[in-house]
Amino acid sequence: MLLKSNPSDLLHSLAELTGLIDRDDLAASLCLTLFEMMQADSMDFYRVFHRTKQLPSLHLLVEFDQQGIRQHSIEQLRSKHPQAPIAPDGFLASALHNNGALAIDPSGFRVILCLRRETELYALLDLTLSRGLSPADLRMLQGFVRIYENHIALLDYGETDTLTGLLNRKTLERQFLKIVTALQNLPSSQALQQNNRDTGSAYFFLVVLDIDHFKRVNDKFGHLFGDEVLLTVSQIMRQSFREIDYLFRFGGEEFVVILGPQTRESVGTALNRFREAVAAHEFAQIGTITISGGITDIRPYEVLSITLGRADLALYAAKDGGRNQMMFFDTLPESEIESGSDELF
Ligand code: GH3
Ligand code: MG
Ligand code: MG
Repeated sequence: MLLKSNPSDLLHSLAELTGLIDRDDLAASLCLTLFEMMQADSMDFYRVFHRTKQLPSLHLLVEFDQQGIRQHSIEQLRSKHPQAPIAPDGFLASALHNNGALAIDPSGFRVILCLRRETELYALLDLTLSRGLSPADLRMLQGFVRIYENHIALLDYGETDTLTGLLNRKTLERQFLKIVTALQNLPSSQALQQNNRDTGSAYFFLVVLDIDHFKRVNDKFGHLFGDEVLLTVSQIMRQSFREIDYLFRFGGEEFVVILGPQTRESVGTALNRFREAVAAHEFAQIGTITISGGITDIRPYEVLSITLGRADLALYAAKDGGRNQMMFFDTLPESEIESGSDELF
């Protein structure tokens, strides 16, 4: 029997795990618990990203070995120097593609646990031991995986909007704070603050999207049709942006996207591709609709309302300019910024 922990230790670990709301902390806590419980030699926690039309990619979030823990947050993956996806070894690759609950190396010393979010693979836990696993160890590991998955499902439930399944406004506030904090900790944060018209540099961008003349849809066809449009637009958003971008329903028919880090040019391209996809969609009975957006860079040391304020000004300009367009805040004339700022703040 490999288990080191006694039942009271396990209960404490579980209480700790289920009290966490941050996914990075949750991954680290799960690893710590299993590492100690199994007296493992090493343990790696990989987050699995699924991209449309591509093989899923693995990003190492937690590394645990005799030297201790090394943690890489999701925000680091999104940072200016993102960690490259991991090239999985043969065993890891087969676990990734076999879609099972767990895979055990023929030696019995290495086990990979597959953690799911609904039916999709969410993360892989790669555990190396100095001895073989007993059936009791396996049952314990699988029990922990179930608790972790249930907890992720509960977090998802609290973080998402019921109609569209996109992240909700409360989550935007928390996620924005995480990004701004990560930006502050970047050595290059000075550079990020400077010259945001420089198209060659990568930034985090925040975009406010608003469906054009949505009131007409509701008035003419009723709220149920309106809701159907919101649902379809959110699906087009999922198809148009990368899994690593954050997509929020901000309220009503307004959405927020946080992209990054990317060049201004690639953000413009992604948003216009999305705008065109919305405009090209035929909605049953309704026909076509359009969407407008305001874009700004996210700067270190600022609060969400300030960033949103800039994106909103750009959105108003896009509406004024005839709708069905994406507008960057930094292209607005000074006069528009000044009069808009008076109204907003
Ligand atoms: P504009 O191009 O200026 O954005 O015009 P608009 O008609 O979209 O104007 P506005 O953004 O002010 O109107 C938002 C409308 O969205 C008001 C309301 O009828 C509708 N709406 C807001 N939330 C919901 C929702 O959850 N479901 C449905 N069906 N409609 C909503
Ligand atoms: Mg609106
Ligand atoms: Mg609108």
